[in-house]
Amino acid sequence: MGLLLLSQEKGFSEISTDTFSFMTIRTILEFPDPILRQQAKPVTDFNAGLEELVKDMTETMYDAPGIGLAAPQVGESIQLIIVDVSKIEHAQKTLAMINPRIIGHEGHQVDEEGCLSVVDLTANVKRFKKVTVSFQNLAGEAKEITAEDRFAVVLQHEIDHLNGILFIDHLSMLKRALYKKKVHKMLAEKETPDEA
Ligand code: ZN
Repeated sequence: MGLLLLSQEKGFSEISTDTFSFMTIRTILEFPDPILRQQAKPVTDFNAGLEELVKDMTETMYDAPGIGLAAPQVGESIQLIIVDVSKIEHAQKTLAMINPRIIGHEGHQVDEEGCLSVVDLTANVKRFKKVTVSFQNLAGEAKEITAEDRFAVVLQHEIDHLNGILFIDHLSMLKRALYKKKVHKMLAEKETPDEA
């Protein structure tokens, strides 16, 4: 992967996971949970509850482990995502992005994706090569970040979650149908355990 471009390093929240005192690992919702399909509400209240949610999501993400997590994945249908920026910052650090919007993009790339809410599936997805995203930090301040390559993929994937979109929606109808069939089979097996 190439270098990541960060236009506004001050956008990083100063969260380091080893300083958390009260954190909870949240349950990650899985497809086909309907909350994953909702349009997430914009955040207008930058309160302590929001900070607590970011802490919980951070612990949940590193526990999974994952490199990004959107609030709807833990059942909170609000416009908040967190992304792991340790590869850029050389320390375990999370960037919390509130009300993120893609405001610019360039080129395309195809890379393999998976999702903590879409179990047992990875697939190649076509995304923008480079994106510029506006967002607010935990203090409600307006920020902007430009990312490319893998980091740009993570941002696009997580922002999709806020619009009720999963990476399987970017696959062919056939691949998506096969996956849905597999999940329904798994769920049916869970509901009807073997008699033996
Ligand atoms: Zn995901």
